[in-house]
Amino acid sequence: MSEQLEKLIQTDKECCIHNYGRLPIAFSRGEGAKLWDINGKEYLDFLGGIAVVLLGHSHPKITEAVTRQAQTLIHTSNIFYIEPQVQLAERLAELSGGMRALFCNSGTEANEAAIKLARKYQNKIDAGKFEIISVTDSFHGRTYGALAATAQPKYQEGFGPMPEGFRYVERGNIDALETVISGKTAAVILEPVQGESGVWPLPDEYLQAVRQLCDQHKVLLIFDEIQSGMGRTGKFFAHQWSGVKADIISLAKGLANGIPIGAVLATEEVAPAFVPGNHGCTFGGNFLSCAASLATLDVMRDENLMENATNVGDYFVEHLNQWNMYSEALTEVRGRGLMVGVTLAKPIARKVLLAALEEGLVINAVGDSYLRFLPPLTITNADVDLAMEKLDKAFQNTSAE
Ligand SMILES: *Cc1c(COP(=O)(O)O)cnc(C)c1O
Repeated sequence: MSEQLEKLIQTDKECCIHNYGRLPIAFSRGEGAKLWDINGKEYLDFLGGIAVVLLGHSHPKITEAVTRQAQTLIHTSNIFYIEPQVQLAERLAELSGGMRALFCNSGTEANEAAIKLARKYQNKIDAGKFEIISVTDSFHGRTYGALAATAQPKYQEGFGPMPEGFRYVERGNIDALETVISGKTAAVILEPVQGESGVWPLPDEYLQAVRQLCDQHKVLLIFDEIQSGMGRTGKFFAHQWSGVKADIISLAKGLANGIPIGAVLATEEVAPAFVPGNHGCTFGGNFLSCAASLATLDVMRDENLMENATNVGDYFVEHLNQWNMYSEALTEVRGRGLMVGVTLAKPIARKVLLAALEEGLVINAVGDSYLRFLPPLTITNADVDLAMEKLDKAFQNTSAE
C-alpha cells in the first residue's frame, strides 16, 4: 500500500465517524466508465457511484453546465423563484405524464416527502388513514420515516423506537398485501426493482395487482425509483414496464450525475395536499443541482441512453448466462437494462469483489451471495466484454485460493 493511501486511511480512522466499511482504495480521477486511484491504477467502473453516475465520470456537458452555473449563481433559497428548478419540474412533468415536482437533496429526503405527502393527502379525507405498507428486503433510506419503511431488521436494529404506522408484507405476495391493506392504509411504497438487497425486479403482474388493490381501498401507490429510475432499466421509470401508474414517485441518485439532488413527483390529484408551510428544504432544487440535472436529462436524450441501457444490458445478461454455462459460478442472473444482479453458487461475494478490484473492475457485493452491477448508461458492448474478462479472472483467482 502506498504511503499516501496509508496516511489517508489513518486520518480517516482518527477523524471520521466509522459508519462505513470502506474498501482500501481512493480514487482521484474519472473519465467515462474509467476510474484511476491515487496510485494511478486504472479501473473499469461497473458501480457508477451506486447508480449515480449515469453519464460516466467527468462528462463534458455536465462539467460545462456546473461550471457555468457556479460562475453565475449557486443558491438563493426557495423563498424566491428559481428558473432552472422550474425548468427541471417542466422536464420531469413531460417525462412522467404531468406529475408535479418538489426538490430535495437525497433519496431518503425524497421518501420522507413522499410519506408526508401521502399522509397529508389521506388526512384530509380520513384522519385514521395513516399506515404505510412496504415489502420485505426493501430499502428506502436512513432517516426515520424512510428507515421505518425499510423492511429489513438489520437497518433498524438499535435505533428504536421506530415511528408508528408502518406495516410490512412479503415481497411479491399479493395475498399477504390483501390481508394487511385496510381502511387505515394511506399508501403502499415499492421499488419496482429492489436495488440494495441484490437487484430483484418485482413481476409486472404483481405491480398490476398492487395497483388494483390500492384503487379498491383508496390507497396511494408510491414508487421508489431512486435507484431504478432515470432510464437505468431502459424506460425512464422502471414501473413503466408494467404499465402501472404511480400516485407518487421518488427520485434521486442519477438525477444530476453526482451533484446531490432528490425529487418527489405527485399527480395533480395528490400534489395539492401540500400547501405553503407544510414542507420545505433549504438546499432543495437550487441553481447548481438543477442546472446539472437539466444537462443530465439533455445528454440522456441526445445520446439515446435509455435505448443503450436496454441493448447493452441485454448483451451483459446474455454474456453472464453464457459464461455461467462453463464457470457454473452463478445460480441466477437478474436484471432489467443496466441494473443487473447475480446470485453466487457459493457465499464468496466479498472475495470475488476484492479479486475483481485487483483486476481493475469496480462492482458491488451485497451480503455473502449477491453481486450488483450499476454501470454508467454510456457503456458499450466492448466494456461488457472487458468486464466479463476481468470477472472471469476474479472468479478463477477466488476459486484457486
Ligand atoms: C439509495 C436509495 C435510497 C436512499 O437514498 P440516499 O440518497 O442514500 O438517501 C432510497 N431508496 C432506494 C431505492 C435507494 O436505492
